[in-house]
Amino acid sequence: MNIPFNKIYFTGKELNYIEDAMLREQIAGDGYYTKIVSSYLECEFGIKKVLMTTSATHALEISSMLIGLGPGDEVIMPSFTFPSTANAVMLQGATPVFAEIKENTLNIDPYDIEKKITPKTRAIMPVHYGGVTCDMDEIMSISQKYNLYVIEDAAQGVNSKYKNKYLGTIGHLGCYSFHGTKNYVSGEGGAIAINIDDSNLIERAEIIRQKGTNRNKFLIGEIDKYSWVDIGSSYIPSDILMAILYAQIQELDSIKSKREHIYRMYFDSLSDCIDNGILRGVSQIPKDCSSNYHLFYLLLESESIKDKMLSKLKKLNINATTHFQPLHSSYMGQKLGYQPFDLPLTENLSRSLIRLPLYSSMTEEESLYVIQSIEKTFKEF
Ligand SMILES: *Cc1c(COP(=O)(O)O)cnc(C)c1O
Repeated sequence: MNIPFNKIYFTGKELNYIEDAMLREQIAGDGYYTKIVSSYLECEFGIKKVLMTTSATHALEISSMLIGLGPGDEVIMPSFTFPSTANAVMLQGATPVFAEIKENTLNIDPYDIEKKITPKTRAIMPVHYGGVTCDMDEIMSISQKYNLYVIEDAAQGVNSKYKNKYLGTIGHLGCYSFHGTKNYVSGEGGAIAINIDDSNLIERAEIIRQKGTNRNKFLIGEIDKYSWVDIGSSYIPSDILMAILYAQIQELDSIKSKREHIYRMYFDSLSDCIDNGILRGVSQIPKDCSSNYHLFYLLLESESIKDKMLSKLKKLNINATTHFQPLHSSYMGQKLGYQPFDLPLTENLSRSLIRLPLYSSMTEEESLYVIQSIEKTFKEF
């Protein structure tokens, strides 16, 4: 058996919707499918305003522009994330400040956030790793105490919840990804969730997304000619991509339960092996969180055990993989002045982590093969 790390899942309606988008002759942005997808997300997740974007990276960029980040400003985020979180801040001339993660979820540690606040801090960017929520109550209360914005990087967290709220809807702004590797895909794509009830801010977001123009007002007939009114860029996805996404989000919960099934099989068998001298932890979902089961990881006792495990699995044709190289110890992070030992827990956890194959179309047979191979590998150590 050959188990890929990831496999794209189509619901079956994608081609019909793509064809329909083409027949409508509206394949640029903000056509028929963009509208239904954004209102669908607003209704399902209870979001004030959703603007579809070309990626989560771009949703994060729009967020940074919206809160007016600039040189001298600092934004606290985990080091254990994708570079986009930090790039969004740096593109505005501001500085990312990296905080530690917690051992149970690999999410940002609220205690370390508070330690890293300075008079320059403007915002916190929590990243919901693997679709498992950060400690949002603590993070929101820190943000109130110090008057900071919260921008959720919910790229991996579409359709997950914290208590009774969807991820991306708790902070001031939330950013989603529909990249081909995520749970719900358009190929490339994303969205920004605006959770602040402020019509000026929403209008500004529309302008930034529309190349700095007030084209939106023109489209709804409020003005008869649109013009350049602010700084912006081109963040609007093609309606063809949104047609694909519509097919996907109509299956929000069935896709989630397919993944849940695989996740549970992994969890039920592998969590029994924790503390066997090789495995020190696996993915877990805290009690206030309902997950979208984006990924499943193992934490091995050491980096060398992790390396051996990966190569043993590769020989059995299982494509497991590592995850984020911490940003603080990357080439760019070191240019920013960080040393690997600045965030020892992040460094240690990321070096001992592997992700197992998990995709919506994964069969029971495939996941059993992965589980049995891991159990066999444990015996060889
Ligand atoms: C995937 C991912 C992104 C980037 O998403 P794109 O839509 O590909 O730009 C950003 N942050 C995190 C945490 C991610 O996992």
